[in-house]
Amino acid sequence: MGGTSVKLHEYQSKQIFAHYGIPIPEGKVASTAEEARQIASELGKRVVVKSQVLVGGRGKAGGVKVANNPDEAEQVAQKILGMNIKGLTVRKVLVDEAADIQQEIYLGVVINRAARRVTMMASAAGGMEIEEVARTAPEKIIKVLIDPFLGLCDYQARQIAFALGLKGDQIRDFGVIASGLYKAFGDCDASLAEINPLVITGEGKLLAVDGKIVTDDNASFRHPDLAAVRDVDEETSSEAEARKFGLSYIQLDGQIGCMVNGAGLAMTTMDIVKLFGGSPANFLDIGGGASADKVAAALRIILADPNVKAVLFNIFGGITRCDEVAKGIVAALEQVPTQAPMVIRLVGTNEEEGRAILAGATLRVQTASTLVEAAQKAVAAAKGEEYVPPSPPPPVVYKPRQHSVVRPAAKKTARPAAKKSVKKAAKPIKKATKKPVKKAR
Ligand code: GDP
Ligand code: MN
Repeated sequence: MGGTSVKLHEYQSKQIFAHYGIPIPEGKVASTAEEARQIASELGKRVVVKSQVLVGGRGKAGGVKVANNPDEAEQVAQKILGMNIKGLTVRKVLVDEAADIQQEIYLGVVINRAARRVTMMASAAGGMEIEEVARTAPEKIIKVLIDPFLGLCDYQARQIAFALGLKGDQIRDFGVIASGLYKAFGDCDASLAEINPLVITGEGKLLAVDGKIVTDDNASFRHPDLAAVRDVDEETSSEAEARKFGLSYIQLDGQIGCMVNGAGLAMTTMDIVKLFGGSPANFLDIGGGASADKVAAALRIILADPNVKAVLFNIFGGITRCDEVAKGIVAALEQVPTQAPMVIRLVGTNEEEGRAILAGATLRVQTASTLVEAAQKAVAAAKGEEYVPPSPPPPVVYKPRQHSVVRPAAKKTARPAAKKSVKKAAKPIKKATKKPVKKAR
């Protein structure tokens, strides 16, 4: 199981871009203010000190600042290091030579699933307001679909360059940047490769001032170099813990913690929780053949979420044995005592043994035999309500039918012949019966 993404830092993305011939500013990464000062004095120019955290909108959050000299660079770095930007602590800053910005362009490569093509997007109105532009003036965003067999064609790059209003040498330079970005996107197995802003400097040159690459975790095995780059600091502790135990875990914002084996079953469980008016706190697939240790880790992760008001276990024992799961639940509850109500549905391999373990541990848990019942119990428990079993549906009464059932196959062939003969015979009868009725009126 994968499906998650690996985000690269700005400085890492820009280094990759540079390999593909995209011009980037000169600069280095610092983890202390003193280092930032040193880099600034080596560069000997105005610099920009940029927080390296894996979220967008650093500029607006005050995480990007220009410094005129090494002293200022040190002061600014002092402020930015340790800053909290959207829940992430800044541990590194990039000290780049400052660009003289005339215009900010947006250039990105994404997967357009609807078109089943990689798409290059560009806008002359790039920079920090690009999301706003996309929302309010989508016509300002140029989109070019790329044929996977042809790649990005020169004419397409020129088309974008003209639409951006680039002139002279800029058009040729833009071609190098666009094809480099497309190549980098493919070579990294990326889901996104973006330069925002790609600036036009005072001298009229193009320069990639910011960079972002997001790669697909499913392709990580092909990129040991990129996998090494994964910034564990940036993962939430729950996600890191889940990864350590080989659990697929995604935190959501509901109240019902779900522990399920199998991704499809996990999705179904979440859907049914929703159907009965609840809201899942997470997606969690403990996988096949999960050991008690793994189950205990999963439960610890679920219970670490303060939003969780009830936990729903939906385990379909196959390779996963229900007794192992039960042992894991008991072990985890010894480590992490909780008041949260638990609803457990265990079916399949060793379910009796599993139930016996839970009963023996005198846990305050509710059990359920069907998923519907389990979901209803969990939804009620999360609201602090008692589960009321639904009134049974009215009994179905079986009435055996006579031979009035129409057989379609017989209808076509048998009817016309029968009709004709009936009509001929019926006509006189009809007349005879109708007349007396009319008279009677
Ligand atoms: P983001 O906000 O996280 O996307 O960070 P960016 O790297 O894109 O920086 C945000 C904004 O800071 C940019 O849109 C620029 O306006 C500004 N900025 C970034 N680098 C420089 C620079 O070298 N010089 C100047 N003058 N402004 C910069
Ligand atoms: Mn940016």
